[in-house]
Amino acid sequence: RIINPIERTTVTQDLSENVILTTVDDLYNWARLSSLWPLLFGTACCFIEFAALIGSRFDFDRFGLIPRSSPRQADLIITAGTITMKMAPQLVRLYEQMPEPKYVIAMGACTITGGMFSVDSTTAVRGVDKLIPVDVYLPGCPPRPEAIIDAIIKLRKKIANDSMQERSLIKQTHRYYSTTHN
Ligand code: SF4
Repeated sequence: RIINPIERTTVTQDLSENVILTTVDDLYNWARLSSLWPLLFGTACCFIEFAALIGSRFDFDRFGLIPRSSPRQADLIITAGTITMKMAPQLVRLYEQMPEPKYVIAMGACTITGGMFSVDSTTAVRGVDKLIPVDVYLPGCPPRPEAIIDAIIKLRKKIANDSMQERSLIKQTHRYYSTTHN
């Protein structure tokens, strides 16, 4: 097909913009995956395994992970433990206070599905993804520190292929429980 000059200009413009965006994406992605700062968030026994991971034996600082106590300084939340209905608004508020781009690892059966509380409990949330968008699911009861490292490696791979444009579209279309709806 013969492309007319106007079409060619648009194609060339699109191409050059995309090349620049892709290069910037690569740079941002490399910086982000090399310095994930997780928010300390433990609501039950799963957090004991996360606490073990922070110790010198597993040396998880080598991934650039530095645990933070403030959501303003964190770009990753690992939900470690059962999420109760009462805790849900607090979790969402913390998530909303984290700056973009931010990521979520759902750790353990209780967080992912409600776990052993998914049958009779009237207080457990059946899946943290009903509250906030999840990037990596980490099953187990509890998952061992090595499994957490595996989840972090999976998240790093995901971030390496991230596109800022696509991610903002996904965020816009993902409906999650918001504290502003209380
Ligand atoms: Fe505790 Fe198991 Fe639930 Fe983790 S998945 S919070 S270890 S009961």
